[in-house]
Amino acid sequence: MASLRKLISTLDSLEDDLAICMRCGMCQSVCPLYRETRLETDVARGKLTILDGLRRELLDNPDGVARRLRRCLLCGSCQARCPSGVKSVEIFLKARIIISEYNGLSPIKRLILRKILAIPRRFHRILNIFARCQKFFLTETDPVTETSRARIFLPLIGKRHIKPLATIPFRERVPSIYQPPRTDAPMVAVFVGCLIDRVFPSVAESMLTVLNSIGTGIYMPLEQGCCGMPVLASGDGVAFQNLLRQNIDVFSRKRFDLLITACATCTAVIKEIWPVMAAVECPDLLKKVCDMSEKTMDITEFLVKYGHLDKISETAYSERLKVTYHDPCHLRKTLGIWKEPRKILNLLDTYEFVEMPDADGCCGLGGSFGLEYDNLSERIGLRKVRNIVASGADVVATACPACMIQLADMLSRTGNSKLVKHIVELYADKL
Ligand code: SF4
Ligand code: SF4
Repeated sequence: MASLRKLISTLDSLEDDLAICMRCGMCQSVCPLYRETRLETDVARGKLTILDGLRRELLDNPDGVARRLRRCLLCGSCQARCPSGVKSVEIFLKARIIISEYNGLSPIKRLILRKILAIPRRFHRILNIFARCQKFFLTETDPVTETSRARIFLPLIGKRHIKPLATIPFRERVPSIYQPPRTDAPMVAVFVGCLIDRVFPSVAESMLTVLNSIGTGIYMPLEQGCCGMPVLASGDGVAFQNLLRQNIDVFSRKRFDLLITACATCTAVIKEIWPVMAAVECPDLLKKVCDMSEKTMDITEFLVKYGHLDKISETAYSERLKVTYHDPCHLRKTLGIWKEPRKILNLLDTYEFVEMPDADGCCGLGGSFGLEYDNLSERIGLRKVRNIVASGADVVATACPACMIQLADMLSRTGNSKLVKHIVELYADKL
């Protein structure tokens, strides 16, 4: 009964959100999916039209609505362009939860999301086993793109050139940290994020190098969990609530001024999605969630504000590698951060920064979208590769581990041996 009441109240709030769409179609021109398929049902306006009649559609064709909603990268390009301020990504996530609650999650999804992903200790134990066994089913890692392929057909990997899991994840390289600031620098909490922890531990190590060089205080509790985007994208409000409660509990134990992440998706989710979803899923936490989301900052924004970049030394290098920058959708379109990464790259005297065409075009991963619609994800990703190649860059920098995975995959699939690096790694090298 309680869950039916919640379902109805979420439907009501969704209808309020939908009412402001005036069907102008301006979202069409920026949707990376529509650019490939030319299907009106793929663009935000088409999806919102379906959701407008969700009460009826839930009775008539709930699976059809769920399928249409899953065809979305959740990139936020539509909401960034929308003149009416329609928050499409929030609407799509809320709708996914409504539909999953109505249809029920499959037993396998329920197991993975609620019994593994939402329980950080168990999640990491299982990933440790995968990390130890991966050499049996993955090829040798390419030294430049650092990707491997499946030796046998594995449905989850398919033809992807994947980044293997780190043999030693970040959480086993560094213990939990609590250290006060050395100077009048801020006290900073670090939200690591699953992909950085398990696939790109050097990004987290670079963050710590940068924070130590500035003299900030550091609070990094390793009991922290996933930001919740994968479970939200799968429509699981229960798993999201569990993760949110754990993260708020862990980060409420110490006082800090800022919460820093090097993952564009984690930053966007904590800042924009946590408050909206907390209001629906766990209103008792709303105040703490809003406090934390206000303190959350992407590492590039933090560096520009607190990194004393003007003190960076300048050396004349005769041969500088060219570096270009891919804007993660969640950083540029959701949070409006695009100048800061360029400012940092322009200050690195070991590199010459070159802009690629369409730098803010989506990379095409979109989380589970990339797994479910590999061909579409590849078509979008190949556009990005053409633009990277056109820039003449040797290195591709970005600020999101998920984009790094997709860029390395697409570059490797097309035989382009270019390094893909997080901007904080390039900056930390300089220190
Ligand atoms: S979502 Fe925004 S841009 Fe798209 S049709 Fe509605 S009002 Fe127009
Ligand atoms: S979130 Fe991205 S893929 Fe989804 S409808 Fe909007 S622009 Fe298209």
